Amino acid sequence: MNNPLIEPHELPPFLSIRVEHMVPAISQILAEIREGLEIILKKEPYSYHSVVKAQEELEDRLHQAWSPVSHLNSVANSPEIREAHGQCLTLITDYSTEVGQNRPLFEAYRTISESAEFDSLPQADKKVVENALRDFRLSGVDLPAADQKQFTELARQISALHTTFNNNVLDATQAWQKLITDKDQLSGIPETALALMQQAAEVDGQEGYLLTLDAPCYLAIVTYSVDRSLRQELYTAFGTRASDLGPGAGEFDNSEVMAELLSARLKQARLLGFENFAELSVTRKMARSTQDVLDFLEDLALKSRHHAQKELLEIAEFAAEQDDLPKLEPWDIPYYAEKLKKAAFDVASEELRPYFPVPKVLNGMFEVVRRLFDIEVVSVADMPVWHDDVLTYEIRKEGAPLARFYVDLYTRSNKRGGAWMDDCRVRRLDAMGQLRLPVAYLTCNFTGPVGDDPALLSHNEVVTLFHEFGHGLHHMMTQITESAVSGINGVAWDAVELPSQFMENFCWQAESLSFISGHYQTGEPLPEDLLKNLLLAKNFQAAMMMIRQLEFSLFDFRLHVNFDPDSENQIQEILDRVREEVAVVSPPAEYAFQHGFSHIFGGGYAAGYYSYKWAEVLSADAFAKFLEDGIFNRQTGEKFLCTILEKGGSEEAIDLFVAFRGREPEIDALLQADGLA
Ligand code: ZN
Repeated sequence: MNNPLIEPHELPPFLSIRVEHMVPAISQILAEIREGLEIILKKEPYSYHSVVKAQEELEDRLHQAWSPVSHLNSVANSPEIREAHGQCLTLITDYSTEVGQNRPLFEAYRTISESAEFDSLPQADKKVVENALRDFRLSGVDLPAADQKQFTELARQISALHTTFNNNVLDATQAWQKLITDKDQLSGIPETALALMQQAAEVDGQEGYLLTLDAPCYLAIVTYSVDRSLRQELYTAFGTRASDLGPGAGEFDNSEVMAELLSARLKQARLLGFENFAELSVTRKMARSTQDVLDFLEDLALKSRHHAQKELLEIAEFAAEQDDLPKLEPWDIPYYAEKLKKAAFDVASEELRPYFPVPKVLNGMFEVVRRLFDIEVVSVADMPVWHDDVLTYEIRKEGAPLARFYVDLYTRSNKRGGAWMDDCRVRRLDAMGQLRLPVAYLTCNFTGPVGDDPALLSHNEVVTLFHEFGHGLHHMMTQITESAVSGINGVAWDAVELPSQFMENFCWQAESLSFISGHYQTGEPLPEDLLKNLLLAKNFQAAMMMIRQLEFSLFDFRLHVNFDPDSENQIQEILDRVREEVAVVSPPAEYAFQHGFSHIFGGGYAAGYYSYKWAEVLSADAFAKFLEDGIFNRQTGEKFLCTILEKGGSEEAIDLFVAFRGREPEIDALLQADGLA
């Protein structure tokens, strides 16, 4: 059988890829990689070229086949693709685990790092070897046999506990529901949310409105329900999910799961020679030490807490004025905050849509990068696509191509929700010394065009598009030729959002909004009063949001620094202390948010939740330089390009930042941007 996923192609041949190609292609390529690695390891003496580059060449074939499979699974899903994708994913995960534990391969990398050749290697090549050695060690390859066995056992246990945690949260969420038949009881709730609740009742064979703890329903109730007791009921049910309190108490309790997870993580970290799990987490990050992270979070809290207290007071005063509310409870906050926002700024996001038609926004975005980096984005027609809506572009500098990308903007029934950038091809020099250019997928889920009018975006959607394009630029503007540190590859997790959040800033500047926006009928840019309110509303309750994120981040981080399996009730104690120091809103005693904190107990953000704020500081501080020099200053743009975007993961993120800014990052710019200075 001819298999387009196995044959070499410059771009994925989307028109000829079929489901039945997927599993055979991945299986065959993996078998060839395994064989190839054995041959590589037989050829001594080892050199960068004979081992590292040869492994890259083998694995690039896997990437070329896997990238369209995983992309199609996200944007053109079907039960058949999901099945094939799942099988491929298992095969690839097994391969990755195997490579991480491949001792001869690890020894080969070590030999190279200790050879005379190493010192003369370019910086990017050195970084590839150093990162690989670090990752080998963190996979336990270097441990004595007995420890290695325990390490692998712990890894399995941790993975199973993640699943249990997530399942408990899901089951507890689904176990709660409430049917309301009298529409008057749902006064204040927007029509779109009501329609969802009605639909949920119908699906369940009932009549009326079915309330659930799923995010859209939960948020609609606590933000809009005029009925205070209903808000309290939902707030309490949501906040006690998967705990020993509240509705369905004890049935899906995560208490034990959390304690076991923290113990297993601590054991793994200790086996690898770390003091605690947080220390292990920061070895792969931009932050230099656990103290670095704690100082950072505590400093931000210190500087924003009094602002948050002031904001809370404003809501309380507004609530007292509006409804004679004697005491503002946690379930009143989203409700009155929303009312206050409307009273203060009168920003209706629907009103802005006519000013953001897709063609205008795309051209405006390309104009932003033309001014910043002197690059041209040109529409091209020769790239095969998976759907008629997909737009295709090439980035050029002085006429020469640098990269290509796909833009898939609109929501479809067989497309995963959300927005993301993904890597289709990575910039690299191949084994024949030929340069391969990067290719990116930008995927969003905006509402498509209606009739003959272009699709009209909300301002939020415009920000999302700029964000993903920022990731795309990081991937596509790279000048690095080694896959493992080219573009977004190998960039520390707490620094990877720098270019994306940086690009968002251009959606909040009058100078750029003047050409990003234009009424789809008249071409007129965003009127003064709308622009003014949009910019004013940006920082509405920024301090309260900041404090909430800091509360989560500090809890996560201190938990992974201080957890002691021999001490009772530690999780609650650590949380209570963080709240005492940082929070401005105290939830009731039975509120057990940690039991549903899937980021850190059900996934990869353990001792890493702080990364969100960390990257925000980087992007705000980087953009502050543009505010100082003029947002389209060419020298500043060029410097950002060659110190951050072009370098990818080839150097430490902190060094790149310092090279751009001339100093280490400071939190002041973020406080300024959030109106908290
Ligand atoms: Zn992002």
